[in-house]
Amino acid sequence: MSAEDSSFCSDVPGRTMIVAIDGPSGAGKSTIARRLASHFGLLNLETGAMYRAFALKALREGLPLDDSKGLEALASETTITLEPGEEDNRVLLDGEDVTGLLRNQIVTDAASRVSVFPAIRVWMVRLQQQLGEKGGVVMEGRDIGTVVFPHAEVKIFLDAAPEVRGLRRYDQLGGSSRKPEIQPEEVIQDLRARDQRDRTRADSPLRAAADAVVLDSTDMTLEEAVQAAVDIVTAKLSKPLDQSTDQLAS
Ligand code: C5P
Repeated sequence: MSAEDSSFCSDVPGRTMIVAIDGPSGAGKSTIARRLASHFGLLNLETGAMYRAFALKALREGLPLDDSKGLEALASETTITLEPGEEDNRVLLDGEDVTGLLRNQIVTDAASRVSVFPAIRVWMVRLQQQLGEKGGVVMEGRDIGTVVFPHAEVKIFLDAAPEVRGLRRYDQLGGSSRKPEIQPEEVIQDLRARDQRDRTRADSPLRAAADAVVLDSTDMTLEEAVQAAVDIVTAKLSKPLDQSTDQLAS
């Protein structure tokens, strides 16, 4: 089944839709994707975790993160499995559950470095298309609405001002009670660097798909942003299929 067909050919109600959520780091994608999945009875797939798992392997192997050929060779002998759920995903790297090892700063930075290479992206995109081919998923990342599922029924591009995103990330990391201490400015600076890499890479840069609904959560609480995302999906669902998507017409 191709990605283009997948949204419409399942006969299982409620498991056909693909919701693509893209946006920069710290915009609230993970929480909103999780809440949308739970609200609409969909599976939640976090594609960033796959890049993180591969980065972890590269770090463990001591491979320079700019060695594109070495990374490509490493990818050819790597298995990454994302086990979806309505809540968190479990990530298996060559069969090992690495879910708890992926959120530290070193892996976070490495993920954004290995993800610039086209061969790595082709491999990941194929895996992600297989994972979502039956529909019934909320998939979040950087290129879901533009590359992985360009015909997703619902596309949301979630954004917020860098300072706001940085402070949210700082709080997630433990804020002022964190040991060892970090400063909010460091987190904001790191986030800007990752944004810059994601937005300017030659292959599949982070950008909103032309048909994405842009949701800017700068001045919203998380609850307000979740509600806005639920409203966007509900509005899309309430439209007849031929008005809410373009692929039936083509
Ligand atoms: O979303 P998360 O922060 O876990 O993603 C980690 C990194 O993986 C991002 O900074 C980005 O460089 C990369 N990524 C990507 N494409 C995706 C998901 C993540 O390039 N679909």
